[in-house]
Amino acid sequence: MTTKLITRNSLKKLMRDLLTVFEIVAPVQGEAVSAFQRISAYEEIGWPDSNTARSPKEFFLPPADGLFRFQQTGRETLLSEPANHHGPRIILGVRPCDAAALAIMDRVFSEKGIDVHYTALRDNTLVIGQPCWKPGKDCFCTSVGINPTASLNMDIMLTDLRDERFLVDIVSPKGEDFFSYFSHFFQEPEDLPRALSAQTREMVFYLGEDKMFDLRVIKKWLDNNFENPLWTKTAARCIGCGACSFLCPTCHCFDFTDESTYQDNSFQGLRKRVWDSCSFSHFTQTPTHQPRPTQDRRFRQRIMHKFKYSFDRYQQLACVGCGRCRSLCPVGIDLVEVLVSISRQSHQF
Ligand code: SF4
Ligand code: SF4
Repeated sequence: MTTKLITRNSLKKLMRDLLTVFEIVAPVQGEAVSAFQRISAYEEIGWPDSNTARSPKEFFLPPADGLFRFQQTGRETLLSEPANHHGPRIILGVRPCDAAALAIMDRVFSEKGIDVHYTALRDNTLVIGQPCWKPGKDCFCTSVGINPTASLNMDIMLTDLRDERFLVDIVSPKGEDFFSYFSHFFQEPEDLPRALSAQTREMVFYLGEDKMFDLRVIKKWLDNNFENPLWTKTAARCIGCGACSFLCPTCHCFDFTDESTYQDNSFQGLRKRVWDSCSFSHFTQTPTHQPRPTQDRRFRQRIMHKFKYSFDRYQQLACVGCGRCRSLCPVGIDLVEVLVSISRQSHQF
């Protein structure tokens, strides 16, 4: 890893140059929430204190992504590429939880062959992250094994030293390539220990927080409690809106839909991949069977997927503790309360 410094002024100038070549996506503060958006000037970057309401997932797995165009005339079907944008892109301000989520998505979309659409977006994107020094009120990343100051899965990590300078950790080969083009914007980090001391004090406080539950206990409970009254009790309030899945940086279930018209003696259209959610009543519905006909079964699927099935398959949880599902569930279903409740039930046996 190479470490450099960049001043805020140099970063602004660098951004101005980059915007002529790259699409740049960064956290932008809206009226109600902050979210990752395409920007056209450095001044639009929000630099929020904690993570954004929406994760950067949608820039790798778009909510509705055209896979191919089709034209069927009689017995002949012609397929063609849709006009997707896969140009060079930078996503700036990605937090360690969302970077960790990308590692989970990478495994899913390369497990059985390479998913060309996801991979094209991933390969063409430089991830510039930033550490988290203060947890958001609903964050629990340290409880699921994420280090909020780690640069894992980023290409470059920018740390705001709060003195008009940023520490720049160049982490990946992609980050090194980028740096070799733009090295004249950066400086050597000569007074690094002094600059970092205040940050380090805060980090010790943050990482010293107690964990709220024991993941090994939860996994064991899930292994043995496919049927349990907790599912019905907890899911009783769930209205199946899917917000928890759509906001989650690791949820990746999708469905296919065709948009087509009949014109010039042929069916023409676009096949799309669209986000799905295990909370929806039609999730995994087939013409003859619905294996999860009730909300409690669908809720169980969500928790099992994140804390059991993903671990069984990849030895990795599918939750990075970003807290978005806790913050924004419209009926106040709280994932941490569910996990604490499971921990408590486990200790009763
Ligand atoms: S956000 Fe809340 S109400 Fe909506 S599907 Fe998820 S758990 Fe249910
Ligand atoms: S399950 Fe909730 S807390 Fe965990 S990664 Fe998804 S949105 Fe974040």
